[in-house]
Amino acid sequence: MKLLVTGGAGFIGSAVVRRAIAEGHQVVNLDALTYAACLENLAEVDDNPNYTFLEADIRDRAAVDRALADYTPDAVMHLAAESHVDRSIDEPGAFIDTNVTGTFVLLEAARAYWQGKGRPNWFRFHHISTDEVYGSLGPDGQFTEDTPYDPRSPYSASKAASDHLVRAWAETYGLPVVLTNCSNNYGPYQFPEKLVPVTILNALAEKPLPIYGDGSNVRDWLYVEDHAEALLLVVQKGQVGRSYNVGGENECTNLQLVQKLCGVLDRLCPRETPYNELITFVSDRPGHDARYSIDPTRIREELGWRPSVNIDEGLMKTVQWYMDNETWWRALQNRKGVGKRLGTPV
Ligand code: NAD
Repeated sequence: MKLLVTGGAGFIGSAVVRRAIAEGHQVVNLDALTYAACLENLAEVDDNPNYTFLEADIRDRAAVDRALADYTPDAVMHLAAESHVDRSIDEPGAFIDTNVTGTFVLLEAARAYWQGKGRPNWFRFHHISTDEVYGSLGPDGQFTEDTPYDPRSPYSASKAASDHLVRAWAETYGLPVVLTNCSNNYGPYQFPEKLVPVTILNALAEKPLPIYGDGSNVRDWLYVEDHAEALLLVVQKGQVGRSYNVGGENECTNLQLVQKLCGVLDRLCPRETPYNELITFVSDRPGHDARYSIDPTRIREELGWRPSVNIDEGLMKTVQWYMDNETWWRALQNRKGVGKRLGTPV
């Protein structure tokens, strides 16, 4: 396929681009290169004739129109977003601009492109979203594709709004869309502001390992390369108009996750005393959702997808990757907000 991927210089987008190129697809990566972007994530595909990078903002209608006209993609895979909940608490405006207005501009450009081509049913607009749109679960139950939306942070509200826009464009204009809502990702190339890289890098620097609140918040962790595989399956084989929940079936509390990471570090990079000793509880994030859990039955039964690694294998690969790629993460540590506590109560 010829794919136009937005946000391909980010954490998940770059995993999608690398995998798509490895599978033989042609990819145009349209990315505005915000603080979260890193073109080094794409070093292994940079010289590939099937890969093109285009620096552009999804809110720039003329630039998106040009990209669609020049590259004539079979599908748009839309990952560009502001993605960090803590930053959304401090500066929600950027989340509305990119996640809501940006998605609107992209949808309108995609609609004009698709209509101009005679409304082909081979075209796909694939919107990549999060399980956070469903809100927070109690101790039991799982999110299915029919769970009502109940977003509770500026980030999840902006993603929920974008999901609604995508569904509205499908209902109203017939745009052939697919959607995915995925749980927390971790793995190589994750920007050093999210829990897994912060824990690994603080541990390697022998700094405190901060845990919000009492660490009891539960997340369903998925290795990023498994997510990328799921996304490429959905864009090619997903049923038009349908959404698919993608999850790792690896629930654990934030405290358990950090303890697992400490265990891996104890094995791969031993110090005199266990890394667990560095765990420090800090004030909680305002509105911190208690539990997310994905029921991935639909994507498993319809498309045959399941994660290739469990959390223990995935964390082992991830810690090893950060240990082997110090040049990559050192370069990002000077970027705005990195290493600072963001999203604290006002
Ligand atoms: P990221 O923050 O690592 O990357 C986002 C990318 O989008 C960056 O390269 C950035 O430069 C680009 N971008 C931002 N604003 C842009 C704009 N206006 N125009 C063009 N490009 C822009 O994000 P990520 O963690 O890779 O997440 C990618 C997508 O997956 C997001 O839509 C996010 O909501 C969703 N998602 C993330 C997770 C997760 O655990 N990280 C889980 C589920 C879903």
